[in-house]
Amino acid sequence: MAGAGRWDGAKREGLYVGRFAPSPTGPLHFGSLVAAMGSYLQAKSCHGRWLVRMEDIDPPREVGGAADLILRTLEAYGFVWHGEVVWQSRRREAYRAALDDLCKRGLAYPCTCSRKRQVECQAALSLPTGVYAGTCRGKRISEHQGRQAVRIMVAAEDISFVDRLQGEQRQNLGNEVGDFVVFRADGLVAYQLAVVVDDAAQGITEVVRGSDLLDSTPRQIYLQQALGVLTPRYLHLPVAVNEDGAKLSKQTHAPPLSLSKPLPALWQALDFLGQSPPLELSKGSVEEFWQWAICNWQAEKVSPRISATSVYQHDPSSF
Ligand code: GLU
Ligand code: ZN
Repeated sequence: MAGAGRWDGAKREGLYVGRFAPSPTGPLHFGSLVAAMGSYLQAKSCHGRWLVRMEDIDPPREVGGAADLILRTLEAYGFVWHGEVVWQSRRREAYRAALDDLCKRGLAYPCTCSRKRQVECQAALSLPTGVYAGTCRGKRISEHQGRQAVRIMVAAEDISFVDRLQGEQRQNLGNEVGDFVVFRADGLVAYQLAVVVDDAAQGITEVVRGSDLLDSTPRQIYLQQALGVLTPRYLHLPVAVNEDGAKLSKQTHAPPLSLSKPLPALWQALDFLGQSPPLELSKGSVEEFWQWAICNWQAEKVSPRISATSVYQHDPSSF
């Protein structure tokens, strides 16, 4: 079975389909709320669908109970998603099928390099840090046995796209990334392939997410082209950073969102997104909040920066 039809079955002419795709590595914090809100408001203000996809494909990084807590938090914050949550852990067959497709067409190959070898080969060719030297390129996939990573072959060509907020973006995968991993040596699908397969299967028309993923987008566009699926539009929001300039995350001890008091965080996230919400909105109900936010959403008002400091106050008495 070949051709594009297999991948873009969910394509619906004219209907906006957006998504929020959290990884269950911990509770939602202010930074994740900004991404959820930006994607939600884009979808809702276009009368589109907003889907939730749980990216639980990396068990070593997951925290027990985090996925449920994320969904409960989204509910408490008044997010309403379309249909069932998609769990990536249940989509292994789809990722395998995409991998087989790439392998059959000679676009992917097994890589047996240790980390040490990768660094040595990189140094020998004076490549920038992290760029894979293509050492295993000659290997054929029929030699693929057991626990080996699989890489996709990239071309030394620029991939460019116009981000709706950040403007024109350009990356030369050959020079800046090298052949990248689509299946990991531990048998798990790599994020880049899973996200492309699922965005296509779910018919996502626009991806709205944090600018920390801006750098991954050319790889995803390349994979879309290799698999013959449509490329969605992209809008990368500024990432919330703390006063030291570090992205809010579990590692930087970003506090989890409060389940009992959603309004302070909702209001501050909307303010962070440049929408200048009236102060009264922080004192009404969650329903009123969303009504105002959806009616007044203007994506052009979001700052086109890749990061912005957030002084998120956990304490609602701060306003
Ligand atoms: N699961 C990714 C994360 O939590 C987001 C993936 C995406 O939006 O493409 O960082
Ligand atoms: Zn290798």
